[in-house]
Amino acid sequence: MQLANPELLRTDSFIAGQWQSADSRFSVINPATEQVIAQVAEADVDAAISAAVAAQREFANSTASERAAFLLRWHQLVLANLTDLAQILTAEAGKPLQEAQAEIRYAASFIEWFAAEALRVTGDVLATSVKGQRLLNLKQPVGVVAAITPWNFPAAMVTRKLAPAFAAGCAVVLKPSELTPLTALALAYLADQAGIPKGVLNVITSSDAATVGQALTRHPQIAKVTFTGSTAVGKLLMRQCADTVKRLSLELGGNAPAIVFADADLAVAVQAVMASKFRNAGQTCVCVNRILVEESIAAEFSALLQKAILHLVTGPGVTPSVQIGPLINAAAVAKVSQLVNDAVAAGASLSYQAELALELGYFYPPTLLENVTSAMRISQQEIFGPVATIQLFSTAEEALQLANDSQSGLAAYLFTKDTQRIWHFSEQLQVGMLGINGSAISQAHIPFGGIKSSGFGREGSSYGIEEYLQLKHLCWAN
Ligand code: NAP
Repeated sequence: MQLANPELLRTDSFIAGQWQSADSRFSVINPATEQVIAQVAEADVDAAISAAVAAQREFANSTASERAAFLLRWHQLVLANLTDLAQILTAEAGKPLQEAQAEIRYAASFIEWFAAEALRVTGDVLATSVKGQRLLNLKQPVGVVAAITPWNFPAAMVTRKLAPAFAAGCAVVLKPSELTPLTALALAYLADQAGIPKGVLNVITSSDAATVGQALTRHPQIAKVTFTGSTAVGKLLMRQCADTVKRLSLELGGNAPAIVFADADLAVAVQAVMASKFRNAGQTCVCVNRILVEESIAAEFSALLQKAILHLVTGPGVTPSVQIGPLINAAAVAKVSQLVNDAVAAGASLSYQAELALELGYFYPPTLLENVTSAMRISQQEIFGPVATIQLFSTAEEALQLANDSQSGLAAYLFTKDTQRIWHFSEQLQVGMLGINGSAISQAHIPFGGIKSSGFGREGSSYGIEEYLQLKHLCWAN
């Protein structure tokens, strides 16, 4: 990695405004080369929590303009270091460089958005039925926040939590994935450069997520846990938070259907499905996981999709032409292989699978499966790999039933020109987000989040800051 600013490559934890080394360290692996790229310190979790607790009161008393000014400085520094940050991200997560750059811009957009939202926190004055009484609602920061983030968006999942927390006046203990801690540490370095007060941001790098999770969820002075990751870990954290009754936001796994009706613009549908399905090699929570196609256009749609898939270039993310990078680790490749093999054994047809000639790295070839059914495991769980699956339907009611036949309720995509149908599906689909004739649903100003087992709470948008604020009512008997 040739960085213009080598200072960005940090390998110690960041606690109370200091970089903290440790004898005990864990390896970060480049998934495209299987090489160790860094040895990162195991952090002192208790020290990080204490630092955040110590910083909380003063930070809560800072003005909204001070917090907005810091966020804007941080935003500028992130953009100024975009190329280096993207290189770090590609090295540890495997994401193609162009996608990594897009993620850094997306991550920065949350900082900019919440710099503005910091200035717009208001309360209410209520009408009263008792003479002389004054009724007011204040919004105050919830207090110290523990943020736990996944490896698939090592920058954006961090800023989508940190920026609203800082805007609201909350100190944070951040635990990034052990697979991708370097991007989070680089962002912390820039936050420090931007002048974040000491102790307001603490990054605990660790290879023992379970122990860190216990410490964060059980600590009485952590007021809120915000988690993005798998549904299984989300459920565990929810149970662990029960004893201290913490505020909780959970952004969990999805199983997004893309429903393609015969009247859709097929070129648009194929382009949107490709963009969603193969983003980050299929490793996003809102990736199209099930393509539901009306029977009458099945052959035409499959042919168009297959043509698009066979043009995908797979390889190390640093190679400029590459669109599909490696999966995050060997276990991810084994899981995707198993899902595909199970589906084929259960009657799915392997219509296309790219041939890869890569000796190293955790790659899985872009693949198209047809004749997939709801009974197959590949339809029931997140594939998290570059595998498109096509399942057919013959009526709108059947499409709706298939789409909703999932514990997950994060995102869905609908392709049709029929406005009546768009309304019907908009009302009936059990999801938090619906893409209609498109799949670009991730922007700082939209409320991102799910229902059902995909979690609760919203990130981004004007709703995002509410997750870090609590109401206090003042009943003032004048
Ligand atoms: P994961 O295994 O649940 O891990 C997420 C984070 O939780 C990581 O930092 C992980 O640490 C940590 N963790 C693991 N076990 C823990 C425990 N017992 N206690 C506390 N923390 C624990 O998920 P992932 O594989 O990294 O991420 C992929 C998942 O995230 C997918 O399901 C995807 O859909 C979901 N996701 C959802 C959204 C959304 O907005 N809804 C966005 C992105 C991703 P280590 O990595 O260090 O083990």
